[in-house]
Amino acid sequence: MRIGVGSIFQESNQFAATQTDLPLFRNSYVHEGDALLRLAGTDCEVAGMLAVCAEAGAQVVPLAAARCVSGGALSDNCYAYLKEALLAPLREAGTLDGLALATHGSMVAASELDPEGDILDAVRAIVGPELPIVMTLDLHAHVTPRMVRQATALVSFAHYPHDDTYSTGERGARLLLKTVQGEIEPAMALAKVPMICGACNGQTFGDGPMAQLTRRARWLEKQPSILSVSCVQVHPHNDLPNMGCGAVVVTDSHPALAAKEAQALAADFWERRWAFETETLSVGEAVARGRRIEGGPVLLVDTADCTGGGAPGDSVALLRELLAMGVEEPAFLMVVDAAAAQKCADKGVGRNVSLQVGYSIDPTWGRPVAVSGVVRRLSDGCFVYDGGLFGGTRASMGLSAAVQIGSIELLVMSQPTYDWGDEQFRSVGMDVCRAKFIGVKNPMNYRRAYRDVMKAAFVVDTPGPTPTHVRNLRYRRMKRPFFPFDEEIPDLEIPVVVG
Ligand SMILES: [Zn+2]
Repeated sequence: MRIGVGSIFQESNQFAATQTDLPLFRNSYVHEGDALLRLAGTDCEVAGMLAVCAEAGAQVVPLAAARCVSGGALSDNCYAYLKEALLAPLREAGTLDGLALATHGSMVAASELDPEGDILDAVRAIVGPELPIVMTLDLHAHVTPRMVRQATALVSFAHYPHDDTYSTGERGARLLLKTVQGEIEPAMALAKVPMICGACNGQTFGDGPMAQLTRRARWLEKQPSILSVSCVQVHPHNDLPNMGCGAVVVTDSHPALAAKEAQALAADFWERRWAFETETLSVGEAVARGRRIEGGPVLLVDTADCTGGGAPGDSVALLRELLAMGVEEPAFLMVVDAAAAQKCADKGVGRNVSLQVGYSIDPTWGRPVAVSGVVRRLSDGCFVYDGGLFGGTRASMGLSAAVQIGSIELLVMSQPTYDWGDEQFRSVGMDVCRAKFIGVKNPMNYRRAYRDVMKAAFVVDTPGPTPTHVRNLRYRRMKRPFFPFDEEIPDLEIPVVVG
């Protein structure tokens, strides 16, 4: 068997002021041709695909693999470059037996609102309508009818936090190889309900709404005809037509069963819509509650400035509030501000520095804060991820500095990076166990990364382009009615797309 393997993976945020270009991808990775094989041994989907192919004795034809921190939509040039990096080797590949692609599903380019569907169209134009193609997706994918029609099967992450990227690659590749060998004949259906919700209550462990949906999906997969069930809670920070939450069900030659179960899961999402709503606190209230808890760290979850959701990471809303409150407990915060990092480097370690810091990338959400402190440490910003989407790969936050401002230690970075655990803090010697308060800029991963050390976590009500409450965002392409803007929809119909 000859199996093509490729990946273009980014989660876009159309509410962010930034545009994503190739250098930001290169800050994580862009591996063209054989260089893709370097991902073997990492945690990503491509590594899982490669392992399954090797185990089965299949020959891998590496196309291209690119991954990037979430951010604004891709520029047309960036998208065209990556698309061609994937397609050019495919044109030269000769006869293939199957194709495994790893994508997010919620990527957007300036002139293409459905890049994953567009990639599948372009791939089909090269390989024809019959070649088995399995595409893996993030659990926060925006799955479109075009993707369902063009792919043989779509398989999403099953876990949030996303610690199952490798195994999702494995699952996708196994499904592909079985299809190639004629053991199964996938029939797929997609059903969605019109609801958009923040990610904070979307964990797939415990007993929240997504955990219950996930358990139902795993139970369905025990039925002999059902090959894969993916529950998808769409990434809420895009403005695309027909966004929603629902399911992709892949059966073995049973399109009607796929449609029925996809529809039932989508209806289940709708029934649970209120359970996805999150309680947020003012920073003052969160600090007051944190002070009543013995020890630390207590996490202040700044979900509105989540780099993993496409925000620039340049917010100083937490810093401003902690300074105004005169917090005396040790507190760790982070901010992306390249000019401030450079100023720290110009001064040098051990020197006093005065900075205007914050909102250096997107001034929409606030004004900089003036601070004075001591430069404790400088770094080139390179680190290796412990797990998750980027597990085992190297990333760079660029020139970075740890600055002591009273009891606050501020990590000043030059570029946004995905916030998985405490890798960024650790890389500049900031041991999170020393802190009473920690500002984290993700809505979910902290639950995993800090589970053994955190005493509590409070989602704070801060401004930014990745809020957990989406009511403040203005969606133009989504047609009403949809939740949460419409809380009830009489005679809700759940359309099904069968692939
Ligand atoms: Zn996700």
